Amino acid sequence: MGEARRYKILYIEDDLPSRLLVKKILPPENFEFFEAGTGLQGLEVARKIHPDLILMDLNLPDISGASLTAKIKSIAELTDVVIIAITAMPGEGARELSLVAGCDGYITKPIDTVKFPQQLIQFLGGKKEELPSPKREFYHIEFQRQLVDTLTQKITQLEKSNKELQRQKQTLKQYSTKLEELINIIQELQICQTPEGMSRKLLDAICRIFRFDRCILLEEDYENFRLRVQYAIGIPREEWELFSFPFRAPLFRRLFGERQILYNLTLKNVEAPEIRQVLETLGTQSFTVALLGVPGRTAEQMSADETATVLPEESREQPDRVIENQIIAEHLKEYLHSEMFHVGGYLFLDFKEPGRKLSGYEVRILDTLLRTASVIYQNLHLREQLKQLFIRAEKDAITDYLTNLFNHRYFKQQLQREFNRDRRHNVPFSLLMLDIDFFKQYNDTFGHQAGDMVLRKIGKILKENTRSSDVVARYGGEEFAIISPESSKKEGAILAEKLRRIVESTCFPGINQHGGKPITISIGVAAFPEDAQTPTELIRCADEALYAAKRAGRNRVVVYSPNLNPITVQKEK
Ligand code: GH3
Ligand code: MG
Ligand code: MG
Repeated sequence: MGEARRYKILYIEDDLPSRLLVKKILPPENFEFFEAGTGLQGLEVARKIHPDLILMDLNLPDISGASLTAKIKSIAELTDVVIIAITAMPGEGARELSLVAGCDGYITKPIDTVKFPQQLIQFLGGKKEELPSPKREFYHIEFQRQLVDTLTQKITQLEKSNKELQRQKQTLKQYSTKLEELINIIQELQICQTPEGMSRKLLDAICRIFRFDRCILLEEDYENFRLRVQYAIGIPREEWELFSFPFRAPLFRRLFGERQILYNLTLKNVEAPEIRQVLETLGTQSFTVALLGVPGRTAEQMSADETATVLPEESREQPDRVIENQIIAEHLKEYLHSEMFHVGGYLFLDFKEPGRKLSGYEVRILDTLLRTASVIYQNLHLREQLKQLFIRAEKDAITDYLTNLFNHRYFKQQLQREFNRDRRHNVPFSLLMLDIDFFKQYNDTFGHQAGDMVLRKIGKILKENTRSSDVVARYGGEEFAIISPESSKKEGAILAEKLRRIVESTCFPGINQHGGKPITISIGVAAFPEDAQTPTELIRCADEALYAAKRAGRNRVVVYSPNLNPITVQKEK
């Protein structure tokens, strides 16, 4: 007899002590021992090591012994493996079923430790247990039936998971549609020109994407501390007024924390009676309130940071500049802290259908949309503010505060412009310099305030009786200047005479009651290109004419000529 062969034994068994026992009693010189704790692991190991014999517990946690046997036998390179079932008290027919499935035999637990290796050797030598024929047929059918049952179960399970997958696919598709809509709407919002236009577009989109029944944009009326409907979908326009209520935004905004929406609120959450009343009028059950703006904490931080960095270092400045800067900084802080910089409005959103809710995903999408829209809104709002500030600053810079006419600075600019333009096209224009006669006397008699009123009234007369293209300015004190484009010296003189007469015949405060002299003006007229080639020269000419008028007795028009003497005085009576 040659040297005994060493067999590869694989024991598939979930009970660890059983595996340890078998490992111990198999002499290693004859048996190379492998083990697995579940059926599927066993299958894996078998595939890898090609054992000579598999010992198999019939009660495995993941697969029945019979099924596992059938599986092993169906693998081409494992068809010759000897499979032995080890069973304690198996369920009825388990042993028979495993034989039908392809087991070569079985050993009953508890195993006989002495005989066990020999028993294995016998099976390895070709011993095979078989069922008697009638029994075999019966168990064969039973085995097939069990296989079919398992298959049917598996198919049902698969169908279920398939349905679940379909459902998830549908949801994903919906999500992706929503995301696409989100991107589209953000792109649309980005090209809006005004905050109002953009908030309307946003509301339309929210209503459409989330299918809310009512979407109301409430804006704060900062003067009256009320919220008012700025735009609404789902309530008739004539009812908008009903949904206005007193409101303190700073308190409210803090509710949002860092979020953009307060979701699924109910009437129970609302304490303020005015708001409750509005909600009851709306007949709402549960609703969502969204913020179009920057949430509370962020806003506070932003305005603090902004004011801290907005002014230059003070140390290098003069003491009075420092105080001036501090005042400006205070004003700026107040301005930037104001609600209008951080809140564009609040959105009220609800469904009429009770129980209809947003999904978690929809809440996230809505939050993202509002976050982005808020940034866009703020940019548009700031742009609008900047535009207003620019217009106001420009207007202030060119307006005389008392008469509302153009100021001296603007007059000088326009005169230069007129020169540039007219030199190019050689179009004539005339300049009128006007001065109120004996105005000091009027002031002394009726007071400075009455004097101011006269200045305003004359300003108004000048404005109303000139063309819109004429530049009417307060030159300084009680002097005015008028640039009359595209008008000859003669036309300038006619305009001057018209204005002189209107002022002369206008009733000014105090004059009649006190029997004083009527208020009159003297006017000097000069023109381009006849009289001068530069703005300064032209002003000097008109001034000279004005003084000539004064010298000649006032209340008259004098047209400039190089040898100005009272001879050029024009006065029509
Ligand atoms: P004349 O006919 O020579 O021009 O005499 P006048 O008194 O008008 O001229 P004068 O230059 O002596 O005095 C101008 C006065 O105009 C002095 C000042 O009281 C008055 N005046 C200048 N600016 C203002 C102003 O803004 N408001 C008021 N109420 N008066 C002003
Ligand atoms: Mg004067
Ligand atoms: Mg005067």
